[in-house]
Amino acid sequence: MDFELDDDHRALQHELRNFAEKEVAPGAEERDHAGRVSDELKTKLAEMGLFGITIPEEYGGAGMGCVASSIVVEEISRACAGTGVLISAHNSLCVEPILLFGSDEQKQKYLPKLASGEWIGCLALTEAGSGTDMGAAVCRAEQKNGGWEINGNKIFITNGGDASLVVVLALTDPEVKKSRRLSFFIVEVDTPGLTIGKLEKKLGIRCSTTAEHIFENCCVPEQNLLGTRGKGTSQALATLDGGRIGISAQALGIAQACLDESARYANTREQFGQTLGRFQAIQHKLADMAVGIAASRELVYRAAWLKDTGGDFSYTGAMAKLFASETSSKCANHAVQIFGGYGYCEDYPAERLLRDAKITEIYEGTSEAQRMVIARGVLAAAEANWESVV
Ligand SMILES: Cc1cc2nc3c(=O)[nH]c(=O)nc-3n(C[C@H](O)[C@H](O)[C@H](O)COP(=O)(O)OP(=O)(O)OC[C@H]3O[C@@H](n4cnc5c(N)ncnc54)[C@H](O)[C@@H]3O)c2cc1C
Repeated sequence: MDFELDDDHRALQHELRNFAEKEVAPGAEERDHAGRVSDELKTKLAEMGLFGITIPEEYGGAGMGCVASSIVVEEISRACAGTGVLISAHNSLCVEPILLFGSDEQKQKYLPKLASGEWIGCLALTEAGSGTDMGAAVCRAEQKNGGWEINGNKIFITNGGDASLVVVLALTDPEVKKSRRLSFFIVEVDTPGLTIGKLEKKLGIRCSTTAEHIFENCCVPEQNLLGTRGKGTSQALATLDGGRIGISAQALGIAQACLDESARYANTREQFGQTLGRFQAIQHKLADMAVGIAASRELVYRAAWLKDTGGDFSYTGAMAKLFASETSSKCANHAVQIFGGYGYCEDYPAERLLRDAKITEIYEGTSEAQRMVIARGVLAAAEANWESVV
């Protein structure tokens, strides 16, 4: 059994950590206020190849896997969680379904632009009436004039304000059973009939845009159907299976940042003539944070390794997302407490980390949804005499 990253992954981690500390961390507070990632930083992320980390080399990407993309998202999120999710959503919510379900023609057309960062991608599943219950989507796609006409509103789209390409889940077959009603489409954001609506004002990850997309008689050619008509629900679930590993890596990066900041502060801030780190009550918080982070890291990278090696990663990925996200919120709470009054104020990063951590328990499947996936796995394993869960 080998729990170590291999040499390539270790080198990537080293490179990304240096890059994130130098280029991403210094502007995190400013980005939080500005509510956007600057074009200058996006260019640097693109030059590092981070928009094409999982895209095969033939389409201009790095051809690496989920362990590599998890390292990228962890290290960038450790420096700035909003920038981390820009990368994670692009790679796991837009690139991934095109890799999984796209035709050769679609891959040739879209992947090179996504790999270079010339185009940023996003995924539109959620609607006002369909969140966790994704199958209740009513955004409609109808066949017209040899193509598809899309009408309806999608909300809460990460990267929705920056993206050039959106993968949309739409209702194509309302008369059949719920699991067969929906289909995926690729839509270029400058297509007539698609407008960007409300940009959400959020508690945290404020530099990541979260937008509404409004489709009004938005026509795309027949060849923009992604994958198989009627398979949209299962394709979306498969996409989210991988996406939640990205969010677990984001949560891990946030939790690690909480520990970094807290330990540094505990070593320098003095009360009663000694540093905070000398007090047992503070030590216990640091210890609990370190244990939670170490356990999260095992789950995140095990899920990523299972995905890269063709294993069944859905159950472990749900565990990683659930545990890492709840750990990041706990660590952020501890960080604010360790910083005391300064933790509650903007001059120190603890309050931003607390605001950023919470979303990891909500998007790409809430903690309640992850518990459903895990419980389903447990019950199935019990029926099979515990042979299918490792
Ligand atoms: C910042 C941000 C970014 C996002 N990015 C994207 C994106 O890129 N693309 C996209 O399509 N969507 C995105 N979302 C949407 C996100 O995935 C949904 O908000 C999430 O899935 C929950 O859906 P909902 O908000 O409608 O809550 P609801 O589904 O209404 O759930 C409300 C509460 O009820 C619980 N609940 C619901 N059903 C059950 C059940 N059966 N059993 C037990 N509890 C249940 C939920 O866990 C939650 O606690 C984003 C949201 C935010 C806030």
